[in-house]
Amino acid sequence: MRLPLQWKVLIGYLVIAGVGMGTAGWLALDALEASDLDQLRAGLTAQARIAARLFARPLGTTKPDAAVIDAMADELGNAIHARITVINPEGLVLGDSYESGEALRRMDNHAARPEVRQAVTNGVGSSIRYSDTIGTRLLYLALPIRSGGPDSPLLGFVRMALPLTEIEGRHRALRNLLAAALGGAFLLSLGLSLLVARSVTRPLGDMVEAARRMARGEFREKIRTHSSDELADLAGVLNYMAAAIEETIQTLKDDRAKMAATLIAMQEGVLVLAPDGTVRLINPAMEGMVGRRDMEVLGRTYLEVICQPRLNEFITEVLKRMTASSTEIVFGTGPERTFQVQASPLVQGTEESPGLVLVFHDITDLRRLEQVRKDFVANVSHELRTPLTTIKGYIEALQDGGVDDREQRARFLETLRKQTDRLNLLITDLLLLAKIESGQVPLKQEPVALAGLIDRTVGLLRPLIDQKQHRVVVKIPAELPPIRGDEERLGQVFSNLLDNAIKYTPEQGTITISAELGKAAPPPAMIEVSVVDTGIGIPLQDLPRIFERFYRVDKARSRELGGTGLGLSIVKHLVEGHGGAVIVESLPGRGTKFLVRLPMATTPVLPYRT
Ligand code: ADP
Repeated sequence: MRLPLQWKVLIGYLVIAGVGMGTAGWLALDALEASDLDQLRAGLTAQARIAARLFARPLGTTKPDAAVIDAMADELGNAIHARITVINPEGLVLGDSYESGEALRRMDNHAARPEVRQAVTNGVGSSIRYSDTIGTRLLYLALPIRSGGPDSPLLGFVRMALPLTEIEGRHRALRNLLAAALGGAFLLSLGLSLLVARSVTRPLGDMVEAARRMARGEFREKIRTHSSDELADLAGVLNYMAAAIEETIQTLKDDRAKMAATLIAMQEGVLVLAPDGTVRLINPAMEGMVGRRDMEVLGRTYLEVICQPRLNEFITEVLKRMTASSTEIVFGTGPERTFQVQASPLVQGTEESPGLVLVFHDITDLRRLEQVRKDFVANVSHELRTPLTTIKGYIEALQDGGVDDREQRARFLETLRKQTDRLNLLITDLLLLAKIESGQVPLKQEPVALAGLIDRTVGLLRPLIDQKQHRVVVKIPAELPPIRGDEERLGQVFSNLLDNAIKYTPEQGTITISAELGKAAPPPAMIEVSVVDTGIGIPLQDLPRIFERFYRVDKARSRELGGTGLGLSIVKHLVEGHGGAVIVESLPGRGTKFLVRLPMATTPVLPYRT
């Protein structure tokens, strides 16, 4: 059973007080009673000695006269208010101050009475007994009666008896008084101990309650004490501790909130692993990368989150060595992406690393740009070298005698001219592209009538169209509003598109150039121009890349047809520079459609941009 502290203190106090006071009272009373009895016994002894002297004479006669002795006993008993019994050496009662006549003669033999027997052996005997004769407790005291000194012949015994009524009454009164005093003192100590116990247990109770509040996370309410003892010190320390814990918790909360905000805002994916490889934390960016919510991955092993052999190898290695390391890994839920993965062991105090932090930095775009740059350099070098090699070859052929053969010389020189033109075209396109990209090509913002522009473009390319016997259909409504832009540059856009349509459509194909007002709402209103051919088409996988510089579906065919691989790049940049867009749709073997969206001239003029 769990006894409250207050009761433990109380019971302890009461047991000590009760036992202490009870023992003290009992000992005092006992000593008092003993001393009273001693006094009484001493008085009775003195009287008995006198009586023994007095009774020595009648008993010393050869035939002691019982009547005389009894009369003396009566007289003496009356005088000292005590019972006097005179007994002969054989125990026969000769005289008694309480009995006389026949009753005296019928009295028992008193030789066996304890006080008489003690008197025989010790010279004095006493005992306390209840007397049936007078119905009360009596103190008996017996002395031997001798004729002379202690060795003289025994004449009998004198026995004195005194009722203890008075002394016992006094003792009873004293005992009652003591009991009352003890009861009072007990009650007083009960009250006092209750007070003391409560003065200790109440603040303790307050502290227990305060500790419970702290455990629930409530730190505001302080412990109040009215004392100034150690308990007050304890309360002070608890209050201080509560304030310190509250401050620490607040700091931790702030830090946590900052960390959570940082993790949420981070573009990089963060994954924290325990040393056994289970996921402890995952940030939203990482959730996006693995396509799983934190609920689904927390507590699971990283293998269940990202299963990529190279990554598994890397994590296993880092978990084993526990040193910071980084690697590049390709994975992805949708299209594959490249990640720079940085792994660092978690540091917590001086303790051994309790886990691993993995940061996934998506470097797909960076790698792609690097690749584009590398490809560009390689492509430019290659594109420049091809005509240069041809030119060099023909010059050498001319030097080696070709110059003397008139027919051969003319053919060689024609090839040299073509290759130089090609080189020139390539460099012109490259420079134009570079200028557009760096914003050095100013685009006029003028109204351009589309019908006229398309007519002029078709006119310029007419020899090529006729050469391949294509049919060109132009469907431009007369009421179509003008386009806002730079006529020369827009001419370049349509010339490139038409040139491609001519090139990549087998002979006798149909090329349709149509335009209409864009249906897309809201404004600015756009004009949609489409160039559709019935040519070879573009495979689906090449469609997203055909606007890249030097990207060709079929390099050999493009080169043979005199393409530089820069035409569509220039188209895209110029159209976007006009605030428009180019879209391509194609079906291999059936044909291709380029849709160019350009702003209408009536729409407010946008800020200049290239
Ligand atoms: P090129 O000088 O090689 O024509 P472009 O940038 O103009 O370079 O075009 C890039 C590639 O796109 C071409 O090599 C060709 O493979 C493809 N292409 C462009 N237009 C068409 C079209 N109308 N039909 C089929 N393929 C086309």
